Amino acid sequence: VANFDLPPFDNSAMDGFAVHAADTNGASESTPVHLRVVGEVPAGASSSIPIAKGEAVRITTGARLPVGADAVIPVEDTSDPRPMSGKSLPERVEIWRSVESGAYVRRSGQDVRRGSTLLRTGHRLGPADLAMLAAIGVARPRVHRRPRVAIFSSGDELLEPGEELGEGQIRDSNSYGLVGAVARAGGVPVRLGIAADEESEVKVMFDRCISAGADLILSSAGVSMGAHDYVRVVLEEHGRLDIWRVNMRPGKPLAFGSFEQIPFFGLPGNPVSALVSFEVFVRPAIAQLEGAQQAQRVSVPVRLQEAVRSDGRESYLRAVVWWEGGEYHARLTGSQDSGVLSSMIAANAYLVLPAGVERMAQGEQAQAWLLDTPPQGARGEATS
Ligand code: AMP
Ligand code: MG
Repeated sequence: VANFDLPPFDNSAMDGFAVHAADTNGASESTPVHLRVVGEVPAGASSSIPIAKGEAVRITTGARLPVGADAVIPVEDTSDPRPMSGKSLPERVEIWRSVESGAYVRRSGQDVRRGSTLLRTGHRLGPADLAMLAAIGVARPRVHRRPRVAIFSSGDELLEPGEELGEGQIRDSNSYGLVGAVARAGGVPVRLGIAADEESEVKVMFDRCISAGADLILSSAGVSMGAHDYVRVVLEEHGRLDIWRVNMRPGKPLAFGSFEQIPFFGLPGNPVSALVSFEVFVRPAIAQLEGAQQAQRVSVPVRLQEAVRSDGRESYLRAVVWWEGGEYHARLTGSQDSGVLSSMIAANAYLVLPAGVERMAQGEQAQAWLLDTPPQGARGEATS
């Protein structure tokens, strides 16, 4: 709630001369009005120069309007040469145009009235909001801090991106994808690395998440049916498992619970499943931890440019959505296998097929979650 009017005082919208508007009646370049210059008010100065009839005060943008003035004539419409700064004050000035009362004046309170509500609880502060808080003097707003999200990977096959691959090994890509997803969702990612497929190692990793001050813990892999899936085991023994397995595609092997009261998501190991599960479950959870009111992505109707299928589970298909001819269109980006990252890179949206829908024909309208701003034009292909 604004405690002040904004702007806090009547001020000039231009570099020019503060005048009585009535004094400028009939002024033009060929019939200028001559006014006596009785002073100058730069921005930041406390103006105490009142003007009387036939007088003007040189003024800069943002400077307080002198008492008695009700309009400003821009320098361009006067005989006072530019630039203003450094030039000595002329004794008289020719006014080359007439103005109405109020011209080029920003009235106190015209932007914000004292007592008005500007921002509501649960609103994520954007650039304009920060500017407004500063402008109305809210130096210490009460906000939710960004949640710290601890991230680890699990699996004996995983190496860091900089390491040389041996037989049967792959690089840990999930934790990096999740770092990006957490950052974009407004959380503070804390990447803790890789836990080997051993109960004790996974337990140590959970403990490290707690020491790292996590508000939320994310892991990937180790939550399916395999003999070496220890994440779920550790959670069942040392924490709490509330949900295991979700009827969606991709992203079925998802675990949710808590470890030492800190909420935990065990995301699937397959790279695309991990990212889709993040979008469906973790992003809204981060929004909730931040106190945001709007947690889910907005979905938009899209015209299918090709037939799509699913196995009847709620499905998230990687797609390109673009704007053309007054509507959104969508096509798939290739293989929908949950291990195929390249079709994820090409996608800017998920097509969301509800449970029970096994196929949709070309030309039908489906729903999509936009992950990025869609391009305009044919098939959404980049033009250069
Ligand atoms: P899991 O859930 O352990 O059975 O893993 C499922 C699949 O995801 C396997 O092919 C794993 O190699 C793969 N995977 C697991 N963790 C990662 C990771 N951090 N980065 C990339 N792939 C992974
Ligand atoms: Mg594994």
